[in-house]
This record gives sequence, C-alpha cells and structure tokens, in this order.
Amino acid sequence: MIGAVDIGGTKIAVGMVDDAGQVVYSSEFATEQVKNDPASGIAKIAEIINHSSYPCEGVGIGCTGPVFSDSGTLGYVEFLPGWTGIHLVQELESACHKPVVLENDANAAALGEWAWGAGQKADHFMMVTVGTGIGVGVILNGKVYSGAGGSHPEMGHQTILAGEGPVCFCGSRGCWESLASGTAMERWAQENHPEHKKLSGRELCGLAESGDPFAQKVVQRTANFLGIGLANLVTIWMPELICLSGGIMKASHLFLPEIQRVIKQNCGLVPADQVKISLAKLGSHTGLIGAA
Ligand SMILES: [Zn+2]
Repeated sequence: MIGAVDIGGTKIAVGMVDDAGQVVYSSEFATEQVKNDPASGIAKIAEIINHSSYPCEGVGIGCTGPVFSDSGTLGYVEFLPGWTGIHLVQELESACHKPVVLENDANAAALGEWAWGAGQKADHFMMVTVGTGIGVGVILNGKVYSGAGGSHPEMGHQTILAGEGPVCFCGSRGCWESLASGTAMERWAQENHPEHKKLSGRELCGLAESGDPFAQKVVQRTANFLGIGLANLVTIWMPELICLSGGIMKASHLFLPEIQRVIKQNCGLVPADQVKISLAKLGSHTGLIGAA
C-alpha cells in the first residue's frame, strides 16, 4: 500500500493505492485554503495519511511544476505562491515518518497510466494531458525522463506559431498549450463567436456533434493544432505509444481523425504508422494512482 498525494490547482487529494493500482481510500481539501500556508497544508496531508486505517510503506506526491524531484523541493507553483522553495519531501517525511518521493504531475500521471492503464509498460511512452494547459510526461525504458538537474521538460510550451499566436503566461507566444488546450479552445471560441458567447469545452464538443458549424470549426482548429504538436513529438521522439487524456479527450472521436491526418502529413521521415495513439484508462483517479 502506498500513500498518494495529488496537488492540483483546485484541490489536494490524498489517498491510499494498493499494489494493483486501485485507490482504496481518498480524501481531499481545497488548495485555496493552504496556498500561502505550507505548514498547515503539510499537516493536513500528514493527518490524512497517519489516520488512515491502511498502513502504507511510503508516500508519492504528484504536483504541477516546477517541481524538483532530485532535491524534493518546489519552485514557484502558480496556485501555491507561499510554498516556493520549501523542501516538501523532507517536511512530509518528518510529519509521516515514511519515505516520500515527489514528481511533476504530468510525469506522475504518465507513470500511473504506463504501469496500470493504457501504457502497457511500453519502452517509449508519452502521456499528453489536454486540460487547462497541455502536460507531457515521458517514460523511457520504465523510467521517467527528466532533464538537467531533475527538471521537467515543458513540451506543452513548444512553439507552434512563431512570432504570432496568443501571448502565453510563460513569456513566449504561440505556445502549443495556448492554441490547443481546453482553455485555449474556449477562449478562441468566445473571441470569435458572433455574439462572444462563453461556451465550455464540453458544450462546444456537444454542439459540434449535433452539427453546429461554428462549434465544428472550433473543434477542427483545435484538433489541427493538437495534431501539429503531436506530430512534432512523433518526429522528435518516435515513441511506441502516445496516450491522450484530459477533459476534451472525452470527445476524442471529434479530434482524432484530424490529429491522425496531420501526423501522417507532417511525419514523413519517421515510421509514424508504428506510433500507437490511445486514450487514458485510469479516469478521475489518474493523479493519485500516478503519484503512488
Ligand atoms: Zn508558453
């Protein structure tokens, strides 16, 4: 049994995951409550773990980056401003008296899906989560791929439209996630809607399905940008398997034909037909299972 902590922008989920990758217990609290108070956040996490009736061997944490897994510290996480620079691993270890490891949440989700979901323990595996942003985790020969100093490469910020496209919070413009994430799709739809109506990703997908021409255009545009970014990943990495997850992938059938078309068109120098594109299987507990 492993304790798991999934730190996200809305909530911090804490749970217990068994050896088969099943969540046997989980509890959560709002991230907002502790965003400037790491001591009480860590105390809440430790309390849930220490008072669970399931004894665990260790604890895994998945957190949105920048996260430094080698040193166990957090960088400036947008929704946890008061936690910058804290040694999360050391502090949770002393509060729970168990070994603790920390991983970027995109990597944690990739590990979970690789071990227990659609990943099938492939030697070259990439997991792409299309949500508020786009997160990519890479598993190479059974291990999370990290860059220099344990850093997490940010493939969601690869430049798709050089010198143009929306300005991104990272300081660049035309980034993949500012064009192809669920949030980007909603924003573009609102800006270009004849009455600037605000529609959610789910509403846009539903409308596209029922034949609404505007929603179909929005979906097609998003699918095209998703395809361009994925084609870059295929050309650069040639993974065996790319697994897609996130809110708008619930309507994956609307996006996949265009994604496949762009990959075929753009990836002329690699055997792109050997890259399998699949959908995540773990569902809403992906973060917790991955953290474990
Ligand atoms: Zn960016």
